Amino acid sequence: MNPIGLHAMVLTPDNDPDRIEHAVAVAARLGYDLLELPILDPATLDGARTREVAERAGIALATSLGLTTDTDVSSEDPMAVEAGVQRLRLAVEVTAAAGGTWMCGVLASALGRYPAPPTSAGRANAVAALQQVAAHAADHEVRLGLEIVNRYESNLVNTTADGLALLDDIGSDQLLLHLDTYHALIEEEGLDVAVRLAGDRLGYVHVGQNDRGSLSSGTVDLDGFLAALDEIGFGGPITFEAFSRAVSDPALANTLAVWRSSWSDGEALAEEALAHLRSRLRSGNGA
Ligand code: MN
Repeated sequence: MNPIGLHAMVLTPDNDPDRIEHAVAVAARLGYDLLELPILDPATLDGARTREVAERAGIALATSLGLTTDTDVSSEDPMAVEAGVQRLRLAVEVTAAAGGTWMCGVLASALGRYPAPPTSAGRANAVAALQQVAAHAADHEVRLGLEIVNRYESNLVNTTADGLALLDDIGSDQLLLHLDTYHALIEEEGLDVAVRLAGDRLGYVHVGQNDRGSLSSGTVDLDGFLAALDEIGFGGPITFEAFSRAVSDPALANTLAVWRSSWSDGEALAEEALAHLRSRLRSGNGA
């Protein structure tokens, strides 16, 4: 049975402790197994208090982040690379303090649109940086998920093939691939093709629709994706992700080009997504 997760930004724009406590309570009450907390600035999360409320609610935690230009480990600027390593190390520590078992996202580059392809020196910097971060994550028993995102959100890892090549160069079992249906729909030959190619190096997945809204309607072939996960024996978390201007953090919404308020009731959206996901899983269409 895969843990079913909810991206916390469906419910809260930030890591204010009271809003996190509310999000944990809502996710647990709806029947989610896991809550994924965005920690773009890891210092904003109170690890100890988060751990306490999650344990009380009986819900597992994951975290996610994307780097910035100033903390880009794929940069040719050694200052940015070092700042990125420090950001990722702190994120690992905050994740462990909160009792999280997974740290995912755009870990190898900045989250955003680049003006040019990656350079070989920049890519080598990302490999060396993630080797350090993976060792730190192993010490803290946090697994890392390298999210494969579309071309407008990174220039380094846009396809499963890119991700596998980077994993090969990093050479750490602590780091696995994180596939997201929203991104894969844009970049891969097929959602199922991407899952099969990732195989046993797939660790974590985001399910989200093409419009970042309701999971049950859109152009993402969720059944095909879930069937492929079942085929490879995927046992990792399946986390629902959605964004709307009305609810998301404005800065992240800008980075992700979330201009419209396509939904406003995050709790209703989360409830509907979980029911839909469980019904598709039960009907044998998936893992
Ligand atoms: Mn995602």
